[in-house]
Amino acid sequence: MSSSEKIVPHGSSEETIAAIATPPGPGGIGIIRISGPLARHILQKLFLPRHNKATAPDYESHRMYYGDVVDPRSSTPIDEVLVVFMRAPNTYTREDVVEIQSHGSYLVLQEILSIILAHGARLAEPGEFTKRAFLNGRLDLTQAEAVLELIEARTDEARSVAMGQLQGKLYEKISLMRDVLLAMRAIIEVAIDFPEDETDILDSEALNRQLETEVEEPLAALIKRADEGKIFREGISAVILGRPNVGKSSLLNTLLEEERAIVTPIPGTTRDTIEELVNIKGMPVRIVDTAGIRHTSETVEEMGIQRARAKLADADLVLFMLDATEPLTQEDQALYNSIKQNRKKQKVLLILNKIDIAAGTSPEQYRAGLGNEALVSASAKLHTGISELKDSVFSLITGRTKGPGWDPGAAVVPNVRHKYAMEKALEACRRAGKGLEANISPDLLAIDIQSALEHLGDIVGETTTEDVLDMIFEKFCIGK
Ligand code: GDP
Repeated sequence: MSSSEKIVPHGSSEETIAAIATPPGPGGIGIIRISGPLARHILQKLFLPRHNKATAPDYESHRMYYGDVVDPRSSTPIDEVLVVFMRAPNTYTREDVVEIQSHGSYLVLQEILSIILAHGARLAEPGEFTKRAFLNGRLDLTQAEAVLELIEARTDEARSVAMGQLQGKLYEKISLMRDVLLAMRAIIEVAIDFPEDETDILDSEALNRQLETEVEEPLAALIKRADEGKIFREGISAVILGRPNVGKSSLLNTLLEEERAIVTPIPGTTRDTIEELVNIKGMPVRIVDTAGIRHTSETVEEMGIQRARAKLADADLVLFMLDATEPLTQEDQALYNSIKQNRKKQKVLLILNKIDIAAGTSPEQYRAGLGNEALVSASAKLHTGISELKDSVFSLITGRTKGPGWDPGAAVVPNVRHKYAMEKALEACRRAGKGLEANISPDLLAIDIQSALEHLGDIVGETTTEDVLDMIFEKFCIGK
């Protein structure tokens, strides 16, 4: 190995990383990514252009080249490929990047990767390309997180929220607030330096008002949206309960037929419950323990209140089904009572099913017996009432109706991490506000303003600690 191929020790920012960027399994093409100072050098080692073989190309940036990957150790051709070299800084990581498009056989990709690794790159850690994009200033932390969300988005709404964040909408909001706080901190510092003029410099009332309208109020609004965002990002879980033969599996099938959400297997995760994912007005709704629904012929006693309770524990929503061809039975009542007893935050929607063969049944009769919960009439078999059912689920969960004015793409919706930091920042601002009212010393004010600034800095990644960064990027897949 020549000195130019010296392997840079692990942990240095000078390291070159590589990974297969496309998912495992056969595909038309597969992509390998290399990022770092050795990217171009490695390309020259393993790639042989089909045209002008004699003169190795100088690799114009962002241009495709056609040729072969040849193992330099044995001169064996591995695959016919397209390659592109992208010169820093106009790349995803802001470093030199090479992408190799080969045929999508995992064996081919592995072989090419092993050659790359033998020439001085090391295998990228999960999320390391995006982490570099963040560390090199191409993305702020909220945008880096949005990349992951975009990859994992399971509904259109989740995708458009992630896209908004990737475009920097959250970053902009946080930056505006930080600018206000920075300006305040500057004023407070002057007041600290010139104690004799303090009252002229610090207009407590004006500062407090500004703090309220330009920081506290927008923060509180964002915090409120975070809960909504969670619903669309992570989805909710639902159980379908009801005695045998009311139509639980028919309903599940109907929902799945209409709107099965796309589920991407996430490597390394195990599932102890079987679940199906349906898309209800943009909310990924996990319907858990469907195996139980599908093969059930047990009576309520057999199923046991115990089991209903267990199912209930993890659910945000209970779809409680009734059979419109029969009046409310004791079994219905017993099951509902067990839900009621064990209910915490769960929302309940009563579904009066089989209305296609129960003309003239009055829904009110059932509701009255069951705590006046929200109720929809439906026929799982004929798909009637399903859109009303979805509307009801949407408004039960979000507390609003979907219609004009509901545009998740325009919304900035913080995630749980952001929300936590915002709450901390808001607390600090409120302390500062109280301090302003009480005319406390500017030194103490400065502490609260600084604390608010740091919490907001955590959100965008300016003051974020290494372990938090690790936690964020660990969630990515290798190659992203
Ligand atoms: P489960 O035991 O609660 O899962 O009930 P199933 O979904 O297996 O349904 C029991 C029976 O009722 C089946 O024969 C279904 O075809 C029938 N069924 C379910 N939903 C409806 C409906 O809306 N209308 C009618 N007419 N029959 C239904």
